[in-house]
Amino acid sequence: MKVLLVGPPGAGKGTQGELLANRLLLRHVAAGDLLRAEVAAGTPLGVQAAGLMDRGELVPDQLMLDLVMPAVVSAADAGGYLLDGFPRTVGQAHAARAWLRGREVDHAGPDAVVVLEVPEDVLVERILARGRPDDTEEVVRRRLRVYAQETEPLVEFYRQEQLVHTIDGTMPVAEVSDAILAELDVPRG
Ligand code: AMP
Repeated sequence: MKVLLVGPPGAGKGTQGELLANRLLLRHVAAGDLLRAEVAAGTPLGVQAAGLMDRGELVPDQLMLDLVMPAVVSAADAGGYLLDGFPRTVGQAHAARAWLRGREVDHAGPDAVVVLEVPEDVLVERILARGRPDDTEEVVRRRLRVYAQETEPLVEFYRQEQLVHTIDGTMPVAEVSDAILAELDVPRG
């Protein structure tokens, strides 16, 4: 099973990605975590990404492809993934497809897209409680704006391909996981 998790910052993509990956014995591939590891290690990629992340802006597509796509293909070959945070724009989705096609590994793309829906006031409250360095009010607002402008069109893109499953992300964490599994027809155990 190859699932892409989409949702605004604070919707619970990271939490659900990790929980479901553990439960289903699949890999959790989180774009933001991969980026933060590069920043912490001080690699050239991390240095390039750090300022953009601090401001809540998107990191260039090519850099994201280089960072995330090898992990996606390797996870797909190992049985599947919960992918969170990439693609985040329609442009990235096209670029990711071209990347896979160029390597003849089209099968590694997602077969379901789970969209976590949470109203903005709940998001802001959750994010400010989380306290990551890019979680200041101004940066959070920018990330929410980037989501509305760049990522909501991506949801439409996948909706047209009938891949989208929408989940109420305001429920308690365990109920959100159960709802996702039910939507994806995964037997619970
Ligand atoms: P996240 O942990 O998913 O909230 O991502 C944290 C930050 O990493 C974002 O605000 C962006 O600066 C950057 N980032 C994560 N995923 C992407 C992506 N797909 N494209 C561009 N930038 C990204």
